Amino acid sequence: MSVKNNRLSPSEYAQNFADIHPPFENAEAAAIEANRCLYCYDAPCMKSCPTSIDVPKFIRQIASENLKGSAHTILSANIMGAGCSKVCPVEKLCEGACVYNLMHEEPINIAKLQRYSTGKAMEHNWQLFERKPSIGKRVAIVGAGPAGLSCAHVLSREGIDVTIFEKESKGGGLMTYGIAAYKVTPEFCESEVNYITSIGGIDIRYNQELGKNFSLQTLQSEYDAVYLGFGVGLARKLDIPGEDLDGVVDAISFIYDLRSNDFSAIRVGDRVAVIGMGMTAIDAATQAKRLGAKEVTLIYRRTQDEMPCTEHELNIAKLDGCKIIWLASPIEVLGLEGMVSHLVCDIMQLGAPDASGRRSPVSSGQTFTLEVDMVIKAAGQMPYEHLVDSYQLYNHKGKVEVNDHSSTNLKGVFAGGDCVNGGKEVVDAVQAGKDGAAAILAYL
Ligand SMILES: Cc1cc2nc3c(=O)[nH]c(=O)nc-3n(C[C@H](O)[C@H](O)[C@H](O)COP(=O)(O)OP(=O)(O)OC[C@H]3O[C@@H](n4cnc5c(N)ncnc54)[C@H](O)[C@@H]3O)c2cc1C
Repeated sequence: MSVKNNRLSPSEYAQNFADIHPPFENAEAAAIEANRCLYCYDAPCMKSCPTSIDVPKFIRQIASENLKGSAHTILSANIMGAGCSKVCPVEKLCEGACVYNLMHEEPINIAKLQRYSTGKAMEHNWQLFERKPSIGKRVAIVGAGPAGLSCAHVLSREGIDVTIFEKESKGGGLMTYGIAAYKVTPEFCESEVNYITSIGGIDIRYNQELGKNFSLQTLQSEYDAVYLGFGVGLARKLDIPGEDLDGVVDAISFIYDLRSNDFSAIRVGDRVAVIGMGMTAIDAATQAKRLGAKEVTLIYRRTQDEMPCTEHELNIAKLDGCKIIWLASPIEVLGLEGMVSHLVCDIMQLGAPDASGRRSPVSSGQTFTLEVDMVIKAAGQMPYEHLVDSYQLYNHKGKVEVNDHSSTNLKGVFAGGDCVNGGKEVVDAVQAGKDGAAAILAYL
């Protein structure tokens, strides 16, 4: 057993990391799908979209060959509509709400239609929004992720001059650095950031980290308002013996390295255990398998009924050949000469429901041991508690607290996205950015 890189041929890497949702082959295929839509008067698809995209309207526009109009309908509600069409868990959002499900028929392929329309807008650089003349107000945004970019676009449309401070060297946030490589590529993310900022009035300053290169007080004194959209970043520790052995990695760093696009450089084990059953765990497991790991096992302390990922995500992992062990919780990583060799797990059973209503796992007192050479931790992310405490921002265990108007306890400082909700989806962060922008406009 060994952890090594370069396990596959270039063509195998290319095939394993190819786009998981290929686009329509031509306009005719898109038109046929668009014409299946029943244009429901109560549009359950629209209601289940956190950004309230008018789905029947944009589909009707595609059906009538008004592609620019359809792109405008999508992007005016969700400026990251192109990215969302690739990464949204649509099976639990718009497509999950489609009435065709009630008839036991395939739901309308809303994401693919959205991708078709927004893809054309980006490809041809259609400028669908006009920025109003500058009104002489300046807003600073921390973080060029979905929340920050969405907030910036709405503000810029209204003639505000926006400066985004981003600690990485590229924009897009977890779209660029987190989400699975077979859903979005770094090149796509870069084009999407460029498309959003092409409206003008948005200046992104890269390699600028709040708390290191500048302070919140500086932004408050130099700008008319501040929006915090710095997400959650740190992987949660397991706090078990052996966590520091060579071969134990956290899923966020593992996935971050994958986004470099040089798949052959990424080291992966022969036998990999992934701890957790959220979207991050699934992404880490499937990508470990696609990098050439011989055996990948997902370990989750509850049952399938309580898993945080969707059925669709679980099926991707199963189709990739990942194994799943339910009701198991790691208690120790064992090593040989400093390298991971085994993972010891408690066998769990479900007890009484906790505050969230889910039944809590409790140890059965029995254990089992797996032979592994790599352990990927995907047991959730931790907010930047130290950072928010240092600026006396009200927070709950590091999650920034805001009122109904996206406002923090500090005057003129607003916040939204993962840094407030603790980690949801891209589409939620986009809506949070819109809400933040509306609140800032009212404040100014
Ligand atoms: C592994 C993984 C897979 C995921 N897969 C999906 C998926 O398939 N579909 C989906 O919809 N969602 C997915 N998500 C969730 C989604 O990526 C997030 O909900 C979304 O990106 C949150 O947007 P945000 O703008 O709030 O934060 P982020 O995307 O985290 O953006 C925050 C930005 O702030 C910057 N920043 C952080 N600290 C500072 C600082 N101190 N100073 C300056 N800048 C700073 C960061 O570099 C980053 O660019 C996934 C998340 C992870 C971790």
